[in-house]
Amino acid sequence: MQRASAEGGQKIQNILLDQVQDALFIIDEVQEILYANRAAKQFFGDDIEVIGRQLIEVCLDHNFVQIAERAMQSQSLSPIQDKVKLATTNRTVLIEAGAINSNYQIGQGGWMMVRDITTELHTEQVRQDFVANASHELRTPLSIIKGYLEMIEDDPKYTQAVGIMSKHTDRLARIVDDMLLISRVESADGDMVKKEVLFDIGDCIEDIIQQLQPVIDEQNAKVKVMLPPDSEDRNFLGDRFYWDQIFFNLIENALKQNTHVAALKIEVVVKKKAKTNQFLIKVVDNGIGIPRDALREVFKRFYRVEKSHSQQKIKGTGLGLSIVKRAVEAHYGSIHVESQPGYRTRFIISVPGPPPASPQES
Ligand code: ADP
Repeated sequence: MQRASAEGGQKIQNILLDQVQDALFIIDEVQEILYANRAAKQFFGDDIEVIGRQLIEVCLDHNFVQIAERAMQSQSLSPIQDKVKLATTNRTVLIEAGAINSNYQIGQGGWMMVRDITTELHTEQVRQDFVANASHELRTPLSIIKGYLEMIEDDPKYTQAVGIMSKHTDRLARIVDDMLLISRVESADGDMVKKEVLFDIGDCIEDIIQQLQPVIDEQNAKVKVMLPPDSEDRNFLGDRFYWDQIFFNLIENALKQNTHVAALKIEVVVKKKAKTNQFLIKVVDNGIGIPRDALREVFKRFYRVEKSHSQQKIKGTGLGLSIVKRAVEAHYGSIHVESQPGYRTRFIISVPGPPPASPQES
């Protein structure tokens, strides 16, 4: 069989790129469109001819064009990603764009991959609104039930029943609180509403340990905190409310998942990397750990590792770690977990430190 000619190869590539659902544009250095797949030709009108035209003439949106400009000017090899609401159509698009340099031998320019995410965003909004409204509405009836239960808890006739009902009401209240927190974290179009202040990260950790002290004592657990010795390196810029939640959930998990571990050791380690101005935060325990196939799932909403019968009593909603992840990401950080069950489980957070003070300020 003869090898496909270069022209034949090009044709096959074009046919394949026409099957891609996302719009793909290739532009030159003065933003003239050199290539558009079928989705791109249909994106801003019905199969309009776009080749040879200026990008702005076709999309009629400056924000859209600015992303292409940013990508072409960026020195980085990795593409940039951004969302834009198009003024002409009111649709929201997710754009990935990168530079094309002279190595490709087609001159300088850029490429853009565009996806319409309007429907996805709308569905997400409906879901968020539902969670926020439902949890809000559930709060009042729950506190009424709790109030009545407290009124009859001293009556010996009902002691056992009231105990069980109280336990379940507390659990429901915790789920509702976590759902409210999740909707707060996810409000404002996916961006967390934050009140950023400077605080000492060590104080935040100590406060949470104090709150959990009764549980720590009950389990006879050892908790060790290691902080940067220089107080300057403990200065943290962020929303303290969310960092309280982050440390509470991580440390509480390390405790409640390991009630049966005889010599439970929990370590909270904070390091500041001067070179990158990044904080590295680790919450480590030597408990039962997380099985390998569950490691990627634990940050998902309502996910709980399936427990053996004896462990099914562990309280929780499966929302804690998803709150932690969203809150860390809202501070431009990332979190991951490593676990060797029975030996060591480590949650590792990397998050930028506050911008260095300018010389006038210091
Ligand atoms: P939950 O409300 O169940 O604690 P999370 O989202 O906080 O929900 O955690 C999800 C699951 O991850 C937990 O149910 C548990 O199985 C697992 N997990 C989290 N932290 C730990 C830990 N330190 N050790 C063992 N398992 C953990």
